Amino acid sequence: MAVLSSARCSALSNWYADAARTLPWRDTSDPYRIWISEIMLQQTQVKTVLPRYRTWFERFPTIASLAAAHLDDVLKAWEGLGYYRRARFIHQAAACIESKHGGVFPQQFDAMLALPGIGRSTAGAISSFCFATNTPVLDGNVKRVLKRWYAMPEATDKTLWRQAQQNIEAFDNPATCNQAMMELGATVCTAKKAACASCPVAEHCTSAFQAESTTKNSKTVRIRDVHWQVHLHLDMQKGIWLNQRPDSGIWAGLWTPPITELNETPDKTPCHIHVLSHRRLHLYCDVAHNPPSANGQWVADISKLALPTGIHRLFAKTGVRIKT
Ligand code: SF4
Repeated sequence: MAVLSSARCSALSNWYADAARTLPWRDTSDPYRIWISEIMLQQTQVKTVLPRYRTWFERFPTIASLAAAHLDDVLKAWEGLGYYRRARFIHQAAACIESKHGGVFPQQFDAMLALPGIGRSTAGAISSFCFATNTPVLDGNVKRVLKRWYAMPEATDKTLWRQAQQNIEAFDNPATCNQAMMELGATVCTAKKAACASCPVAEHCTSAFQAESTTKNSKTVRIRDVHWQVHLHLDMQKGIWLNQRPDSGIWAGLWTPPITELNETPDKTPCHIHVLSHRRLHLYCDVAHNPPSANGQWVADISKLALPTGIHRLFAKTGVRIKT
């Protein structure tokens, strides 16, 4: 089994110093900025996060301003990033920091873990980047690298946490260790391809040049098809009728036209198909002539509210434009 000796740490550190992408959250040790970047980057690509990260701090420059904001404004700022539960947790955590920590992001690891939406890996990132603690990150990229590195495709999270802890303790700089491991997984040792020929740690990796045969354990996600009828109530003066979705379930808390779930697959082509992590939404739409239900409101400018990307795409495909 390969062990992360100091020589190997140096190889990884030197590579990171040369090859790391320039990203705005790497130029700061402000825990608020690191926290937001870490949450945004969960299951979302860097190129999607970059513009949102910049505008987020124009809208919410401090934790206090975030805590004081209305949830609708926070969801609006999150629009396009998906997994909106993360935005709700961020809002709750900001309120918690205000009420329990005097508005200052806590330094203690356990206090970070107690905040809504912050798990061990995210707390490890914030703590190591901002406070130089030996707290590892174990996100999807790091897990894959460790599994290949030690040729343990079936390794449990418990085993990987232990390996990650040993690795970070072998480094001089815990922030660099975490950043380099994440960067290696994101750019060289990726899920699609292990680029062993250009890998800085190939000579120390048990799976070098045979990673495909040691990369297993990837779960197949079953995507269920859902058929939704979307009812468009349109008015030249008032705009479109929208209602806010419940606090849980698909598109929780976002604004959409009234939606009816269909029990059977309709014999027509959907206006738009939107794929989420576990659902494939087939969206059919009709222009409703009956009065809108009591639940909802007329919206003349949809740019003020958070709408799911799937609904924006549906509007684009059907030519609906609502903005004053
Ligand atoms: S040598 Fe190949 S399998 Fe090993 S860490 Fe590098 S890219 Fe991944």
